[in-house]
Amino acid sequence: MKTYILSNLRIPAGEDFILEDEIARELHLPSTSFKLHRIIRKALDTRKKDHPIWVFTVELEFYFSPPRHPDLCEVQSLKTVNLSPIFIQNPHPYIIGMGPAGLFCALAMVENGLQPWLFDKGDPLEERLIKVQDFWQKGILDENSNIQFGEGGAGTFSDGKLTSRRNEALTQRIYSELIKFGAPEEIAYEALPHLGTDGIQMIVKRIREYLLARGCKFHYRTCLTDIKLNEEKVSQVAFGNQWQEPEIVILAPGNAARDTWKMLHKRGILLEAKPFALGFRIEQKQSDINRWIYGNEHWAEILGPASYRLACKTGFTFCMCPGGKVIIAASEKNTIVTNGMSFSKRESDYGNSAIVTAVNAKNYGNGIWDGINYQINLEKKAFHPGYLAPAQRAKDFLQNQNYSHSIHSTCLPGIYPCNLNNLFSSFISSCLSSTLKYCNHIFPEFYTNSILIAPETRTSSPIKILRKKDELSSLSASNLYPIGEGSGYSGGIISSAVDGWRLGERFKIR
Ligand SMILES: Cc1cc2nc3c(=O)[nH]c(=O)nc-3n(C[C@H](O)[C@H](O)[C@H](O)COP(=O)(O)OP(=O)(O)OC[C@H]3O[C@@H](n4cnc5c(N)ncnc54)[C@H](O)[C@@H]3O)c2cc1C
Repeated sequence: MKTYILSNLRIPAGEDFILEDEIARELHLPSTSFKLHRIIRKALDTRKKDHPIWVFTVELEFYFSPPRHPDLCEVQSLKTVNLSPIFIQNPHPYIIGMGPAGLFCALAMVENGLQPWLFDKGDPLEERLIKVQDFWQKGILDENSNIQFGEGGAGTFSDGKLTSRRNEALTQRIYSELIKFGAPEEIAYEALPHLGTDGIQMIVKRIREYLLARGCKFHYRTCLTDIKLNEEKVSQVAFGNQWQEPEIVILAPGNAARDTWKMLHKRGILLEAKPFALGFRIEQKQSDINRWIYGNEHWAEILGPASYRLACKTGFTFCMCPGGKVIIAASEKNTIVTNGMSFSKRESDYGNSAIVTAVNAKNYGNGIWDGINYQINLEKKAFHPGYLAPAQRAKDFLQNQNYSHSIHSTCLPGIYPCNLNNLFSSFISSCLSSTLKYCNHIFPEFYTNSILIAPETRTSSPIKILRKKDELSSLSASNLYPIGEGSGYSGGIISSAVDGWRLGERFKIR
């Protein structure tokens, strides 16, 4: 029997409904004439204020011939990319980095009977949690174990948004794996799935237990510090003064891996600079955001805290955290980097989002390290003892006016007053100002009561480690495989996990 997809099934939010009955109504059929296989997507249309509508896409099977309907079509199989297997002798490939790319690469490998060894410069999650608390409460930063580095990777202290723009079979596979490790089933079809930092942490621990039970080894506080190349292969890797000779090295170091990129470049691995975006985080009352999106605050009780995504010529909003906190996500001493975090319940009275503008070689120069140096300069300029972040009322920023009123922020560890126009170049300031004004045009009063906290510099990797398109190995070393965000091939938790899985599933024992 053929399966069909019914899209654009619209159901008013806030009303009780039985999905099968709604499908039957839409198709003018009795609900006994089809079987609902699964929900493919559930999104919320909030364009008509105070009348939010659920929009479903569902997969159905008909017991008789299917009806004619403009939104009904036969199921098309999702894009799959079949890469050739890589046969290896040693069942313990080395994976550098325990973020989503590294962990999902390992999960795919164990499916094929391999027992990869994982290495991370940071601590196991439990110790990392203590380090992060020390940072937030006492301003003590461990440069190896912090919000960017350590088991679970950069997204461990995040909003746990699981959105992905790649609609491919592997994305669904990653959702299934996450569900297997305890994520709610809705993540597979919700338009804006999220887990919260608590959900992510629970899953990271379960993945570790699962991999350990299958013979993988976890090496913590073990930083890849050097490599040796011989005949276009990595012949040795160093963790401090310990040299080892793995057959395969998978590099998943994340987008804060400045030391690692420098070392790779020095050893002749081909890298190139990548444009990125930077700006600040805006923090707003969640009740205001709910009103802008839903038209009426009470919808938040039914639909959860609202989020937005806006873009114009001069910039865009990014990585919105409804009901969350702003956090300083520094990984280097005496620097400030903003980001956002929330728990699964998203209960904070505030929401925050990055507002960023794209920058490229025209802004900072053509040298390979120019973009990173540009980031570092901003991060250092913003520093204040105790890792407090510079903050300003959005209204004052737009008027280039020094701090004049007391400001409140959820930011951890905290903020200090500063005119952010003095932090950014006048060009960046004017792009960010125009973007704020555009957002205000879409949502009146967008910036009226908002606080800006800066700088948001790590939106994506400023470096790409060049790799062969099909083999996925480095252009410079055939047994070195760069994956994930730090290698320049993904952005976000899901796409990094996809990149890791895609590579991991290719390895087979000879
Ligand atoms: C605060 C915050 C919030 C975020 N929120 C979201 C979100 O809600 N949704 C989303 O999709 N994305 C979010 N992101 C981005 C997301 O976390 C990253 O895109 C993703 O983690 C990248 O995965 P990765 O595995 O490539 O790298 P990472 O997760 O960065 O992992 C890299 C790992 O490599 C280790 N490492 C680095 N160098 C070495 C070395 N030389 N030797 C050994 N180990 C090394 C690091 O310690 C780290 O654990 C957030 C990021 C941050 C910082």
